[in-house]
Amino acid sequence: MGLSKSSEKFAKISVESVVSFLDKLYPVKNSEIWDFPGLIIGSADWEVDKILYAVDPTVEVIDEAVEKNCNFIFTHHPLFFQAQHQFSSASFRGRIANQLIDKRISLYCGHTNVDKSKDGASFSLAKELNLKNIISLNDYADNSADNYSEANAANFHAKRTSASDNYLAVSGDLKSEQTLEELLKNLSFLIPKTPSPLRCSGQKNKKIKKAVIISGSGDYILNSDEAIQTNFFGADVFISSDLRHHPVLDFRQTYPNVAVIDVPHFSGEYICLGNIKDNIEKSLGAAGILSNIITDPYNFTSLDLAK
Ligand SMILES: [Zn+2]
Repeated sequence: MGLSKSSEKFAKISVESVVSFLDKLYPVKNSEIWDFPGLIIGSADWEVDKILYAVDPTVEVIDEAVEKNCNFIFTHHPLFFQAQHQFSSASFRGRIANQLIDKRISLYCGHTNVDKSKDGASFSLAKELNLKNIISLNDYADNSADNYSEANAANFHAKRTSASDNYLAVSGDLKSEQTLEELLKNLSFLIPKTPSPLRCSGQKNKKIKKAVIISGSGDYILNSDEAIQTNFFGADVFISSDLRHHPVLDFRQTYPNVAVIDVPHFSGEYICLGNIKDNIEKSLGAAGILSNIITDPYNFTSLDLAK
């Protein structure tokens, strides 16, 4: 592949220049109220030789960065979802933080600030599917994916933003109609494979034209007032991740004609990493690689069992 060779032509740059570039593209102030993206570990004056792009800041991803001589890691998901009061090695988050500091590896998280842009996961998946007429459903998206706190669901109606660009939730039209089965097959080819399968609810031969997409955990939208008022935005299918039994069951009972596809959370969001990598490489000349680590926590299913 010659990654190490090609990286030699890239100049060394500072953490500060990468962070300020990212903040211009994906302002941290645009992130959801519960989300705290930005530079998590590191110092403005540290150097950046090579960047590793990953979905999650796991122990394995940090090891990969060390092994591949990357001293800056961009992850989609945060290391910390909640306020922390200790960073000791008693917790895995503390161990990760300490290891990063020891090795002088910076960690940057680009989460809902990135997902609100056209480089984010929902818009990227819409582009992968070659959808046209992609629009934001921003009024409906403000309590979006990856929010661990149930309490925040109560804020759904209170947290709408006036940001014009908010692509946490999008809708778009397939260039030509596909059956649900065809769409499922196409989608499974477009996203990275993990041991977790894509799951589908609907009739296989149902014709699909319009899709609503929310990257990450999007089932909050299924039975929302807005979905009911708009007949689920006139869509034929909803594509998202981490979709729970009751929201989907209730939704399918309410809208038997709207199908649901649950893609593995990791796969649906990995695809947006290439956008950030391309932007940084083109504008700053910082070498980078996409992580090879699958951070889907499920590593086999009953489909893999010996018969
Ligand atoms: Zn996510």
